[in-house]
Amino acid sequence: GDFPIELDTLVVGSGPGGYVAAIRAAQTGQKVTIVERGALGGVCLNVGCIPSKALISVGHRFEHAQHSDDMGVVASEVKLDWSKAQAFKDGVVKKLVGGVEGLLKGNKVDILKGEAYFVDGNTVRVIDGDKAQTYTFKNAILATGSRPIEIPTFKFTKRVVSSTGALSFPEVPGKLVVIGGGYIGTELGSAYANLGSQVTIIEGGKDILAGFEKQMTQIVKKSLKKKGVEVVVNASAKGVEENENGVIVTYEAGGEEKTVEADYVLVTVGRRPNTDELGLQEIGIEFADRGLLKVDKQGRTSVPNIYAIGDIVAGPQLAHKASYEGKVAAEAIAGEHSVVDYLAIPAVCFTDPEMATVGYSEEQAKEEGLEVKAAKFPFAANGRALALNATDGFVKLVARKEDGLLIGAQIVGVGASDMIAEMATAIEAGMTAEDIALTIHAHPTLGEITMEAAEVLLGNPIHIV
Ligand code: FAD
Repeated sequence: GDFPIELDTLVVGSGPGGYVAAIRAAQTGQKVTIVERGALGGVCLNVGCIPSKALISVGHRFEHAQHSDDMGVVASEVKLDWSKAQAFKDGVVKKLVGGVEGLLKGNKVDILKGEAYFVDGNTVRVIDGDKAQTYTFKNAILATGSRPIEIPTFKFTKRVVSSTGALSFPEVPGKLVVIGGGYIGTELGSAYANLGSQVTIIEGGKDILAGFEKQMTQIVKKSLKKKGVEVVVNASAKGVEENENGVIVTYEAGGEEKTVEADYVLVTVGRRPNTDELGLQEIGIEFADRGLLKVDKQGRTSVPNIYAIGDIVAGPQLAHKASYEGKVAAEAIAGEHSVVDYLAIPAVCFTDPEMATVGYSEEQAKEEGLEVKAAKFPFAANGRALALNATDGFVKLVARKEDGLLIGAQIVGVGASDMIAEMATAIEAGMTAEDIALTIHAHPTLGEITMEAAEVLLGNPIHIV
């Protein structure tokens, strides 16, 4: 064997959980080493949030260029140069990955290339090809993320792809079948519809985009329909036959077996935590269900010097949630009293229009027995939304009945992804609906919709009767 090298804080995985944890740990004076088997930045930067958003914006430009006649913009022969679009996407990823490397180095974090495997609660082997080195560590933060679930009847191939494959199709699919109408499947399905694909989404549940309120998804579904996206619900995907030119997908819906032909099939039926291949069970770390690790409010596992964050612990599988938990775990190791509080974690779905939510929905609040008041204001009554020619959507606020404390907000409409930040701030700061109504919002902006929703809640809106 080799001589073990002593480390202080070890971070495993460099996604938005791991690299943020590493930087915060370094800021608190810990000597940090981060180990990554793939590319810096994890799923989020390389095959998740960032490349998907780059493609979504290419889709928007292409769609807008073709369909702005009603605003007097008549473009003919709008073309898509797919290899250039891919290069744009790859360029964005490359820039951010380089940025993460620079930040880690700037914070004096040591970067190790290789796969971590735990030997005991203080020892890890890092394997890189045929090289291996043993390290001992004082504390560790696990941030190994997740991978797409592969179902036996839809093994990934050239034409049966996960989200990763769908980010770099060799050409825009003429026809694309998406299995699973969660946010990843719907975002990508919507993007490819904008890019010219004929898209069918096959969803097993009773509706797509579970987790968002019906009033919101209804608006997105209307827009999907307008793009020609076919949505089949209560359908179970049975299997796929692949030939040289495409695939034939079989599914069952309404008691009937049906088939649909396509160039590619994207399977997005959930993500599995990467907790099964690094010796965690063997060193006595306790698991919760579905491969997730059990942690306390600081991210500590049942092995007290080992923490876990991001997609491998309970909660929404979102990049900013991973980063948030990373900061808390790093601070906990430094002896600070940080704990996680999930109330103000927003979730965004980058469909057309975007959907965003933070805190409680009216439904959830009622389920928990909270007495709430909710109010809505439509985009259609806002000057900026009209000027943008994007009037679908609303802002909905949920406040505690007794004192108007804001406990939730839902936004569907253009710009929802950015607008939700104000609501997260308001919830985090303990603001009331009155505080929002009293905040002067610049005119004409989409932010005014939020202010007016607060006024509706208080019973004195100006621009609606
Ligand atoms: P990851 O980003 O998965 O990183 C884990 C890292 O650990 C990987 O780099 C992996 O190589 C490494 N690793 C694993 N095991 C080992 C080992 N044994 N040794 C060494 N290294 C190891 N979230 C959002 O918030 N907004 C979005 O818009 C969004 N869009 C998405 C779109 C798509 C298509 C996908 C797939 C996901 C999207 N997500 C989005 C989810 C987001 O990417 C994840 O929630 C986030 O990346 C989780 O961060 P993480 O740090 O927990 O893990």
